[in-house]
Amino acid sequence: MGTAMTNESNAAVLNYHKVLHKISTALETAGRPDQGANLVAVSKTYDKDAIEPVLTAGHRIFGENRVQEAATKWPTLREKIPGIELHLIGPLQSNKSAEAVDTFDVIETVDREKVAVALTREMKKKKKTIDFYVQVNTGEEPQKAGIAPREASSFVSYCQHDLGMNIVGLMCIPPFEENPGPHFALLAKLARENGLEKLSMGMSADFETAIAFGATSVRVGSAIFGARK
Ligand SMILES: *Cc1c(COP(=O)(O)O)cnc(C)c1O
Repeated sequence: MGTAMTNESNAAVLNYHKVLHKISTALETAGRPDQGANLVAVSKTYDKDAIEPVLTAGHRIFGENRVQEAATKWPTLREKIPGIELHLIGPLQSNKSAEAVDTFDVIETVDREKVAVALTREMKKKKKTIDFYVQVNTGEEPQKAGIAPREASSFVSYCQHDLGMNIVGLMCIPPFEENPGPHFALLAKLARENGLEKLSMGMSADFETAIAFGATSVRVGSAIFGARK
């Protein structure tokens, strides 16, 4: 019995195909183009053996929330399989920015000057280009990362013009207990006002809603890999 057999019966692969189908359906319902939203498969807490079947099934875009964890898991996977695009979706400390620049292709959680400056310096040093999202704390939750909505425009402009960062879009994580729709709408409005095309919003529980509000990228973990411990 080869790898194909194992792969077909792999729960994460079955879930992966279900999520892709739901994304297509949500795009169609919203009257949006079929390729209008990417899936970032969030593999945090899952090890290489759990991730590999989804790579074998053809997926290439993954998200991790910790720099250290990603730096230990992904280099060996990248050696085996070309074309992987890894996104940092968790909060970043400026002292981890060198390792973050080495490990990730896209960083979705730029939210303050100190981190933006450190990332720019490391990119220059390593001559590596990274795409960035600015994370917005749409619910203005004190414990949550992200820039306040009223400061988002000046911060985006600072990153683009003062630092020369390639800011491709905005990212948010709505408050857990609230209806996410208004938060997705606010993020879409801020992106429009700043001429940004990409919106990273929506997780396992609400990615279809996010697509209705214009998400171009959804970050789905447990609906693919299963509940985390
Ligand atoms: C963990 C995580 C996700 C995925 O969450 P699920 O509910 O498992 O889909 C998405 N975005 C961020 C920022 C995360 O930390």
